Amino acid sequence: MTHHYTVLIGGTVLTMDGALPTDAASRAAGDPGVPDAAGRRATAICYAHERILAVGSDEEMLALAGPDSMVVDLRGRAVLPGFVEPHAHPYWEGFVAGMALVGGRERRVAIRGIPGATEHLDPDAWLVARYDPTGWDRPDDPTRDDLDRAVPDRPVLLAHVSGHAVTANSLALALAGVDAAMPDTPGRFLVERDAVGEPTGIVRGPDAWDRIAAAMPAPTAAEGRAALARAAARLAADGVTSVADADVGSTSGVAPEMAAWGDALAAGAMPLAVSLMPGLARIAANAGDPVPSPADLAALLPDDVRDQVRLTHVKLKADGALTTRTAWLRDPYDDAPHAGGPVHDSAALAERIRRAAAAGWACATHAIGDAAVVAVLDAYAAAPAPHAGGGTPAPSGTPAPPAAPAPAGTRAPAGTAHRIEHAMLLDDGLVARLAAAGVTAVVQPEFLAWAGPTYRARLGEERAARLLPFSALLAAGIPTAFSSDRPVVPGAPLAGVRAALRHDPQLSAAEALHAWTVAGAVALGDDDAGCLAVGRRTDLVILSGDPTAVPREAWARGEDGIRVEATVAAGHVVHGALGWER
Ligand SMILES: [Zn+2]
Repeated sequence: MTHHYTVLIGGTVLTMDGALPTDAASRAAGDPGVPDAAGRRATAICYAHERILAVGSDEEMLALAGPDSMVVDLRGRAVLPGFVEPHAHPYWEGFVAGMALVGGRERRVAIRGIPGATEHLDPDAWLVARYDPTGWDRPDDPTRDDLDRAVPDRPVLLAHVSGHAVTANSLALALAGVDAAMPDTPGRFLVERDAVGEPTGIVRGPDAWDRIAAAMPAPTAAEGRAALARAAARLAADGVTSVADADVGSTSGVAPEMAAWGDALAAGAMPLAVSLMPGLARIAANAGDPVPSPADLAALLPDDVRDQVRLTHVKLKADGALTTRTAWLRDPYDDAPHAGGPVHDSAALAERIRRAAAAGWACATHAIGDAAVVAVLDAYAAAPAPHAGGGTPAPSGTPAPPAAPAPAGTRAPAGTAHRIEHAMLLDDGLVARLAAAGVTAVVQPEFLAWAGPTYRARLGEERAARLLPFSALLAAGIPTAFSSDRPVVPGAPLAGVRAALRHDPQLSAAEALHAWTVAGAVALGDDDAGCLAVGRRTDLVILSGDPTAVPREAWARGEDGIRVEATVAAGHVVHGALGWER
């Protein structure tokens, strides 16, 4: 039976409506109904399929219910806008969901366990898995010798969990044509070599996966759709209703991945709101190649799903990762003085960004090290404004005008700002520059919980303490959205809230939840998401209790007891069920 209206009563509805990104700013705005960054509260909400009709008291919402309405008593649960995940890798997440993750505490034990992952494989199939050395007693990447000993009879490709390095065994290296004679591509494809110049099997840089995976059989269309269906189920279980793929093409190439997205959307296998961010290096491989426009990319999708997909940003990389020592730092790594550096030199980066902006894209540029953040800000200052439609570039050195703050409850601005992805290693000067540039920061609190000790080893205590200063970013007025970069980390937004509150004693749960909802919607330019207000899309997450009623110390200790109980995307229940026993 289809219900005309659905009415949820008897809970706490955290609308995010009327909120500003910090509790202090929300209170200072003077509306007594807005106590913090989670905005106006209500006890009930009414929606008709994909649109929210009303938010208010139980009595007000029950007055709207008719005989064909479904009325659900929340019994004290909390309703929030569905979480927005503005930087993830859903295609890759679905693809790796069935793969082994070689992790654990002991490196030797982890490597000895790799052959176990071959059990269900055809005799000549590649073994593809991920590895996470951040918890190992000896955190050295596996080498080809390690893998040859473990699995000598089939090609093996292990991807570092960050995606910024891989290790291959001798068979895989041979199939991919990687040998002692193969030249490096500075910043992009770095073959680690032993004392006699032979590849150790470890390859770093943004092209490491692509160049070796190109030797594997490509996933079929059915495998692509199945990967996205798996990712959708995992995201929904974590309360996510909007997701951006922040590097379309990075696993199997742009055309096959766009086809998989189109197929999954048309089949209903991907019921979440979707933003696709093609990898710039994948749609325009060389610096001088013409950059296809958003309309060119949309043409790769079937007609009937094209308007379901946001195509606003291209993704590019200024540097790599701290865990793999490929991030670009102003001062040397503590544990490897000569490691790290740019993917492109500053002039080439600026030219790529200029060309992308001229083709109609906003840019989402990966920058983790402080030197990379500087280079990206310089490049943005010299590029045309996003979505200027190919207008004239701003005079070099002229900063873009600061973006107006986008409070919840107002519509996000048309079009979207340039973004910096990760923006991990900052100082006061860089925070001030970010604020002046009007750039959105898309940051990953769960990274800190995952790799904190590795970051301290790479950077030393002083610099590690400067990583991701969430409350300073918010206080400076920088639009700051939380994300996870899943599957680099497991990626549940509630895990991100815990990690953020553990890291930053100035941050509140309401502010962290604002960063997972309103701020993500602004980052994606999705003015239908992130806020529970009349007319918005029915994207909801139902939590076991009011997350703002839990002391921040309990969040920081992971003792909050808050769980996702149901997720509703565009009016469809995509995880759990609506209805609870007393
Ligand atoms: Zn990413």
